Amino acid sequence: MAICIICRKEKHDFNDEHVIPDSIQGYYHIYKVCVNCNSKLGSNIDNTLTNHKFIEFQRHLLNIKGKKGNVPNPLAGTHILKDEPDQKVILDVDAEGKFAPRLLPNIPDFKKEAITDSFTIRIDKKDEKNLDKIVDKILERNGIDKSKIVQTKTYSEAEHPWVQTTLQIDTHNFKAGILKIAYEFAVDKIQEYFEDEQAIIISEILEKADFENLDTKVTFLGSGFDKEVLKPFEHLIEFENNNHYLILFCSKFGLLCFVNLFNTFSIGIKLSEKTSYIQDNLLVGKNDLTEKTFIVYNITELLQSTYTPLTYRFKHWFPNEESVKEFMEMQKDKDFAFYYENDQIPFFDKSGKVVYDNIDNKLILMEKISKGDTKNSMITEYLLDEELYIKMLPSKKLYAVVSVQTEQFRVGKI
Ligand SMILES: [Zn+2]
Repeated sequence: MAICIICRKEKHDFNDEHVIPDSIQGYYHIYKVCVNCNSKLGSNIDNTLTNHKFIEFQRHLLNIKGKKGNVPNPLAGTHILKDEPDQKVILDVDAEGKFAPRLLPNIPDFKKEAITDSFTIRIDKKDEKNLDKIVDKILERNGIDKSKIVQTKTYSEAEHPWVQTTLQIDTHNFKAGILKIAYEFAVDKIQEYFEDEQAIIISEILEKADFENLDTKVTFLGSGFDKEVLKPFEHLIEFENNNHYLILFCSKFGLLCFVNLFNTFSIGIKLSEKTSYIQDNLLVGKNDLTEKTFIVYNITELLQSTYTPLTYRFKHWFPNEESVKEFMEMQKDKDFAFYYENDQIPFFDKSGKVVYDNIDNKLILMEKISKGDTKNSMITEYLLDEELYIKMLPSKKLYAVVSVQTEQFRVGKI
């Protein structure tokens, strides 16, 4: 027995729940949703996303098959020719995945206008083989003897006709699909979140598939279609069209989750008022459609994947001119370097006793002063609040440190 994260009841049977729907190639699975809720989520919530026009366009572009093995045609349905509103046209997808217009047979409405001495029908060249059948049917229906008619054909070319269509774009219900992804990611990764006041409200919305007043119950950041909301993460994440990204972090506004699907949908969701779930932390889930993986990075892993290890610069305090000269002389030595112990730079006190066996252990307690976070590197400064020294090689003498700057160079994005 375990508790289902959607209905919040004790259940025996749990299913493989795709946090990011299968039809958009989600590789993130959890086993915390009961069989019943799992099937309801699929038909009530996931489909608000997978059947969304924008998602259909992306699935079409990336050739992503659905459950039945078909790549959706986002322009399925009947359209009209722009210059001839009476001419209906459909857009087939050809073998190369391109849209190919096909005129629907244009046959006069014989109920409105009876056939006098002639009539014209128009069909697509691709349907020419069906022409005789169509004509026969019309003649039969209207009781006209086939032997008494003369048939002439004319061809006209319009290689790239303008097709006019109306698309209905859902700007509301798809949010429920994204809400589900964000909620499941948070519940899976933050144990205490399940009992959160807002988490209870969200699971109720998902269970009942009740999207009415969704915007009053849940705060969404951004319209869903603008990428502005992801700006703060652009230096870390290469938002690519064929990937999905989930970004979970605590800000002063509370627990937030940003969801980016195919780089088409980008929306933030406030999951809780509480700001303390993953303090000073960040979890990024990357669903890679090429690698077929879902990988979660914490802040350390993210920085390791995107930055070189830290390099240090120390600002010293010198007791006199002589000490400055001595230091500058030493800098010319080919063996000039920081003194390391066990691969770490230690901080000493005045007497040469180790106070911190790794300077990072001190820096982590200090206030970070950002000295620049650019495209290429991130510089942080720490002002020391106690008297600390490092040793320099080759003399192994102690030098007082006033402040430390760390720099990390950007090597890539995830
Ligand atoms: Zn359930």
